[in-house]
Amino acid sequence: MYHRVTDLPNDPYLLAVRPKHFAQQMDVLRRHYRPLRLQELVAALRVGNVPSRAVVVTFDDGYADNLHNAKPLLARYDIPATTFMATGHIGHPREFWWDELDRLLLQPGTLPPVLDLRLNGSAWRRELGETTIYANADYERHRDWHIEQQDDPTQRHRLHRSLYQRLYALTQKEQEPLLEEMRTWAGAEPISRPTHPTLSHDEAVQLADGGLVEIGAHTVTHPVLAGLSAGAQRDEVRRSRAHLEEILNRTVTSFAYPYGSYTQETLAVVREAGFSSACSSDSAVVRRGSDNFRLPRAVVRDWDGETFARWLNE
Ligand SMILES: [Zn+2]
Repeated sequence: MYHRVTDLPNDPYLLAVRPKHFAQQMDVLRRHYRPLRLQELVAALRVGNVPSRAVVVTFDDGYADNLHNAKPLLARYDIPATTFMATGHIGHPREFWWDELDRLLLQPGTLPPVLDLRLNGSAWRRELGETTIYANADYERHRDWHIEQQDDPTQRHRLHRSLYQRLYALTQKEQEPLLEEMRTWAGAEPISRPTHPTLSHDEAVQLADGGLVEIGAHTVTHPVLAGLSAGAQRDEVRRSRAHLEEILNRTVTSFAYPYGSYTQETLAVVREAGFSSACSSDSAVVRRGSDNFRLPRAVVRDWDGETFARWLNE
């Protein structure tokens, strides 16, 4: 399970694998494993005959680097892959909410000392303390910080984490006014950094072109599906599929749950929407008898080929 193939100045969510490392990883897969298309794996599972050392490469979210950086390397090693796109971002060149939090809070610059928001109807205030001014030197010092670390080295990181946890649980409709307030507070435009673009309509078509990369659905707005009503889940799942089928002019059969979040109800919703498989983020290996609608995956980090090979062997 990948998200991005790119060189990022900072990567607080550990989403990026550098192109150099991705190439080494694909080389390992090509030499020592049996790369399959996701649908080949699903078909093989159905008849109970998965080839040994089979692997499937997937990407979540639909970042533009899947086309510009990953696809040429997938082609070089002839490795098929599936990119799951959150379709609400197609044609809206804005960053994902987590990337906006990074842009607004973890980049060097000066912010007003106090942030006042309304969260769930009540006033919410945080003070930036000594990190109102976040100098280049501060940014450099904390450049390698990521969300999986337990510690928050500055007030900005503390603010970032508490907003991250709150925004995560909200729908896009609830997130958007908060992000808008924060942009105004920070004096930032609602635009995407050149380092964080998502696939446009044309780029999605190009990514699917040639058939090496399959495009799957990942809802419209990337919500925590388990937190939505069955009706709202159905709407997210169906609309993302319909949108992709319209722009790609082909049947879309694969789905991935945003944040790996699903309930029994979600599984039924996805099945009824016409998908033939869905990937979770449960960290495990696909085995005989694995549920086609809960295919586990393992997150790949920015490892060199040797580390990646060792990890695969574990
Ligand atoms: Zn996602």
